[in-house]
Amino acid sequence: MFGVIEGTGFEVIDPEFDDCLIGHARVERLWTGARWSEGPAWFPAGRYLIWSDIPNNRMLRWDETDGSVSTFRAASNNSNGNTVDRQGRLVTCEHLTRRVTRTEHDGSVTAIAEHFEGKRLNSPNDVVVKSDGSIWFTDPSYGIMMDYEGERAESEIGACHVYRLDPETSVVTAMAQDYVKPNGLAFSPDESLLYIADTGGTHLSGGPAHIRRHRVASDGSLSGGDVIADCTNGFFDGFRLDQAGRIWTSAADGVHCLTAEGRLIGKIHIPEIVANVCFGGPKLNRLFICGTTSLYSVFLNVNGAR
Ligand code: MG
Repeated sequence: MFGVIEGTGFEVIDPEFDDCLIGHARVERLWTGARWSEGPAWFPAGRYLIWSDIPNNRMLRWDETDGSVSTFRAASNNSNGNTVDRQGRLVTCEHLTRRVTRTEHDGSVTAIAEHFEGKRLNSPNDVVVKSDGSIWFTDPSYGIMMDYEGERAESEIGACHVYRLDPETSVVTAMAQDYVKPNGLAFSPDESLLYIADTGGTHLSGGPAHIRRHRVASDGSLSGGDVIADCTNGFFDGFRLDQAGRIWTSAADGVHCLTAEGRLIGKIHIPEIVANVCFGGPKLNRLFICGTTSLYSVFLNVNGAR
């Protein structure tokens, strides 16, 4: 935890990135021992971080008060992306059960999305909650393509969409239907923009490895959708935005920091492939990084968007 972790460091590509850093802050490895870390979510009231270890079929919890790590949930149905809703409840994407769940205040688990137009979802991957309570999630087919991170099955929908779950009616609506493998997603701080990663290149030669940006109308409908950034090393999987609208995204060589327009301004090098990140700590100025077997963190001179 102390000293410089081999293979870590900052790469400043544009001076703007310098302003995002704390000169003496270093990347810490908080824990290791996972097969594939994903889906970090910060719980401010409890001062802990929950994340998924997908192939190990468990969710882990890192406690800020003493640095300990314990099992939060096992079996976890090969959970992947996690987030926290407006009421502080955990919302989880599950590969094995092909659903999105909510963990209630009493600890019970409620399935909140399982089907689209009567057909089973593929394997929900990542999820975000908008301020109006709507739950947006991506549904690529990774969890049904192999048994390693779910269970092999045919797609009933036959495509991979981005969905919105209505908080009042629980109706699931496809909001974007032109993605190959939609993956991470995040709103801009004012929620006027929605960024969505497409990792279609993982299983399609020459396929997408980029982030697209959509405008969000007041009724939630999307327009635009231009590609704003192609990943220069691996794939953009999960990502989060800071309060200034910068994108902090996973990549094969660590974390890439992009402007709101998609320009790469710097990197945090991590010695493992990074799948996802989230801001945490009381001030949301600590970036938690899920890097394959390990959980890393680094304090930054920016704050995560609430
Ligand atoms: Mg993902």
